[in-house]
Amino acid sequence: MTVRVRIAPSPTGNLHIGTARTAVFNWLFARHHGGKFILRIEDTDEARSRREYTENITTGLTWLGLDWDEGPFFQTQRLENYKQAIKTLLDKGLAYPCYCTPEELEQMREEQKAKGLAPRYDNRHRNLTPQQRQAFEEEGRRPVIRFIIDDDREIVWHDLIRGKMTWKGSDLGGDMVVARASDNEEFGQPLYNLAVVVDDIDMEITHVIRGEDHIANTAKQILLYEALGAKVPKFAHTPLILNQEGRKLSKRDGVTSIDDFRKMGFLPEAMANYMSLLGWTPPDATKEIFSLSEAAKEFSLDRVNKAGAKFDWAKLDWINSQYLHQMPADKLVELLIPYWQQAGYEVNLESDRPWLESLTALVGPSLTRLADVIEETHTFFGDTVEYGAEAIDLLKQEGVAEIIREVIDAVASNSPLTEENAKEIIKQVTKTQKVKKGLIMRSLRASLTGELHGPDLIQSWLLLNHKGLDKIRLQQAITVSSEQ
Ligand code: GLU
Repeated sequence: MTVRVRIAPSPTGNLHIGTARTAVFNWLFARHHGGKFILRIEDTDEARSRREYTENITTGLTWLGLDWDEGPFFQTQRLENYKQAIKTLLDKGLAYPCYCTPEELEQMREEQKAKGLAPRYDNRHRNLTPQQRQAFEEEGRRPVIRFIIDDDREIVWHDLIRGKMTWKGSDLGGDMVVARASDNEEFGQPLYNLAVVVDDIDMEITHVIRGEDHIANTAKQILLYEALGAKVPKFAHTPLILNQEGRKLSKRDGVTSIDDFRKMGFLPEAMANYMSLLGWTPPDATKEIFSLSEAAKEFSLDRVNKAGAKFDWAKLDWINSQYLHQMPADKLVELLIPYWQQAGYEVNLESDRPWLESLTALVGPSLTRLADVIEETHTFFGDTVEYGAEAIDLLKQEGVAEIIREVIDAVASNSPLTEENAKEIIKQVTKTQKVKKGLIMRSLRASLTGELHGPDLIQSWLLLNHKGLDKIRLQQAITVSSEQ
């Protein structure tokens, strides 16, 4: 048997972290077994589906490295298949037209509520006579199609993550609507549970791996497989992703779409790595950094937890920094350039490239997320610098102006500055000014960057010198230093 799994997002929003994590598990499972991973877009809800969401979903999956072998298939292009299946159910007497009006259904629910019962359809139109149907038709009512769910049925499956699962037919809300009403046809738009089953049968899906919020649907769907005379696939329900308070991760937690994570500066490799750990424990639990294909070698559903998976920002940050820190500067710079551009810094992609690469090599080790680059490098852009309070205090210290003046003179006769010259200048100033090297370093850093802390000073100085910014800033520092 060739393993065939699928991810079946609805294009009613951007690619959600939960869907993406389900996609990761499906992909890992398919690759582990040398099977196929299929992409199906569940766009039957035409009112809420949008083409840009489909695009966001396919781009997001591709960005994460989750390539699919077949599809994307679109449910809207498969309506005929669903209609055929509904006809089959009607012909077999396993489904029937229900003429209840919304008002009647509402009243039914009110009565159930009043009696303290859970709301359900009471199957009142299951056994209408042809004459009764005729009468409703003549009233102008248009029926939905309901699939018969036997209250006495027990539905049992062996879930590959959760073990034995048992549902009672009576807990499924009564006979289920599988198609909406239509004004001019026997029935209208097919609904989710029916469409999914028809698709999974046609696409020969062997394992349905999806979020645990679909468990009740699975019970209903198993009945549909049986009714349509198809083999029931294996099911695996993955745990929900929870926030720190243990509730389902939602928009209120800051981000929910993969696009948001991308914009915040998480690398696709880090996201995929982190998501594979959201509920799955590799056989060697100490190994936390791995590529998707490495994870695929080890992946199995029996190591997926039943309990919800807590979303841990600190861990995601840590994983992201591991990837960032091992990335060569010539590759990392490509990812940072859009952030500089977005911040409005003028960068010439050709002539500035070596300079940007050196800047990347300098700050790369301090980045956790790509977006941190603005905070870490803002001081390297723009002619002048904003001096922080600490820097101003230092620049006003006695003797600092003299240090800076001497540095200015030395820079003028050492152009362009090299690492050796820079070190030599510092040594020289230490001697002539008779001060400790530390004070010179601090004065220089304060003058050049406006701050007292930052990446390697000599490298920072060289980068600023290359742009002719060190002279401007040293002059600026003299002014600050002598202000009252
Ligand atoms: N369209 C469903 C969703 O986005 C997928 C359900 C399934 O995987 O069967 O949740």
